[in-house]
Amino acid sequence: MTQAASLLELQELDIEILRARKRLDELPEKREILGVRQKIKDVTDLRGKADLLLKKLQADLKAHQDEITTLTEKIASEQTKIMETTDHRAVQSMTREMDGLRRRQDKMEMESLGIMERIDKAAAQTTKIDEALIQLAHKDAALVARFKQVGGALQGEIADLASKRAATAAVIEPATVSRYDQIRESKGGVGVGRLDGTACSACRMSLPAERVLELETGDDIGVCPQCRRLIVVRTSES
Ligand SMILES: [Zn+2]
Repeated sequence: MTQAASLLELQELDIEILRARKRLDELPEKREILGVRQKIKDVTDLRGKADLLLKKLQADLKAHQDEITTLTEKIASEQTKIMETTDHRAVQSMTREMDGLRRRQDKMEMESLGIMERIDKAAAQTTKIDEALIQLAHKDAALVARFKQVGGALQGEIADLASKRAATAAVIEPATVSRYDQIRESKGGVGVGRLDGTACSACRMSLPAERVLELETGDDIGVCPQCRRLIVVRTSES
């Protein structure tokens, strides 16, 4: 095989590699995995907020219960004092004081009930969130497994193509390969065209007759006067 034919083959392989990489990059599983991961992040944030609310409510409940305990003790000691007092006026004032303590105690108890209800709701919410997180983790694992399967096949294909490419590049003049690589890099993946009648197959431009003649009387691999890519004039020995 001539250098020119090998160069065209190199270009074919590079295009196949690009296509396979693009397919790998655009696998629907990949997009789905990214979507699920974002959702996991959002739901985890939500879980953090629900946790904070639950902790706040629990602290609030404890403060209420502590106060109820203190009030119960105070009421009991007032009760004892009333029993021990014979002074009518003192009893009356202590009774008023005790009524105030009982009202406060009732209020605290009512509020505690409300807080307990809110704790139940918040706990149910965190349970729901945890279930959602478990489901999302399952979905993520299944998608990753499928991505590995489909993507693995594509990666194998890319590796095969890459080794074929290396073998092909090895038989071409290194200077030609590096020139081709540079052009390919700067021109969207296509570094070489072929002279197709009077046109360059890479840029599709019809070349003036004198340029075609120059190419035809020159080397197997020339330069397209239009797009400046390498251009293969002939692939067989002349
Ligand atoms: Zn061209």
